[in-house]
Amino acid sequence: MPEPNEQSELHSCLKELSKKLDVPRKKDLWDKLPIITTFLGTAVIGVLTLVLTQSYQRLESNRQEKFQAAQIATQKSQIRIEELKAITSLAPLLASKDPSTRDIGKQLLRAVSESKLSDFDPESSYLSAEPVTKSLIEVPAHISLTGSTSKAQQFSLIDKFAQIALTSNESTSRRVEATKEIGKIADGATTPREVKERAVNAVTTIALSADTPEEVRRTASVIVASIKSVSPEQFAAVIAKDRVTRNISEIILHHTVEPSITTYKGPESIFRMAEMQMKTRNWSKISWHYAVSPDGMIWMGMPVNEQTSHAAKRNFDSVSVLLVIDGDKETPTESQKRALGILLRDLLNKFHLSAEENFTDQKGFHRNYYGKTCPGNNITKELVINCIKAAKRSD
Ligand SMILES: [Zn+2]
Repeated sequence: MPEPNEQSELHSCLKELSKKLDVPRKKDLWDKLPIITTFLGTAVIGVLTLVLTQSYQRLESNRQEKFQAAQIATQKSQIRIEELKAITSLAPLLASKDPSTRDIGKQLLRAVSESKLSDFDPESSYLSAEPVTKSLIEVPAHISLTGSTSKAQQFSLIDKFAQIALTSNESTSRRVEATKEIGKIADGATTPREVKERAVNAVTTIALSADTPEEVRRTASVIVASIKSVSPEQFAAVIAKDRVTRNISEIILHHTVEPSITTYKGPESIFRMAEMQMKTRNWSKISWHYAVSPDGMIWMGMPVNEQTSHAAKRNFDSVSVLLVIDGDKETPTESQKRALGILLRDLLNKFHLSAEENFTDQKGFHRNYYGKTCPGNNITKELVINCIKAAKRSD
């Protein structure tokens, strides 16, 4: 064992030695350390990125393959459904007593059975698979009914669907479906007015046709009501969108007498009225701009920018408002008074007219221009002005 002196001397020698040997090396290493870490870090990040990207790409391509497979499966089953529909639609032909009709049915059936799903090319668009059934059921039921379809196409689709809905040897469910398709064409905020009108006329015809089954008639009624009637709350938005270029200086009230409040049966009564008035069932030729039904709905008739025949010399600058009531025998229902008040409030606002100037002993009622009591002795100027005041209060 060395002495403490000796030990400390050895210690300092070793220290010196270690300084000479190690310090420069240590210093080099410390100098290089940041470079090494940066390099290692970059390498690790690079490798990780590569690995992660590859595994993500694998996952993504698996997902896409699965998605495409699912899409193809859906399209195939849709085509299958169309084929089944086509086959179903052949039933009346096959059941026909006439041999040549049966032959046509058989030929068409063969054509459907021979068209193979394996011919379906998943790369091509869905519509390209359409001709298989298109020529058979004559209704391209899955064609796009949105904005991309031209007005002429929409017209011809409406006519085709109406034809199916009106054909008595079609099944009720197919007639209901065809009626709903017309509703879909008319539905949509961007649908042109002419297309909506054509759809309304077609669906009204379906609703009123003598041999239309009850289920089809109900479907048709719902569709016409959804296009042609609004709640009082919705009316302000409707009238705000109407661009009116003709000069309006008066709103004139009428009553229906028939249907009255007691005989009113919902939308169908409104169609009957439209039918009776023009025989053509053409909504753009009826004599009223707005009708107020006993249940408090507002029905759209003639576009307000077009004049109607309702009050002889006052037609050109007036709006025709019709109350579904026998105004000599009945008084309006609460809902009807409320709807009338809101309708008149919004119309007066739109045309910058005042209630007190529009509804007087000389103005605002059909009886002011015509020998009868229209809109009925119970429809007084006080009643009308009170309805408008109530609507203004609730505004
Ligand atoms: Zn009248």
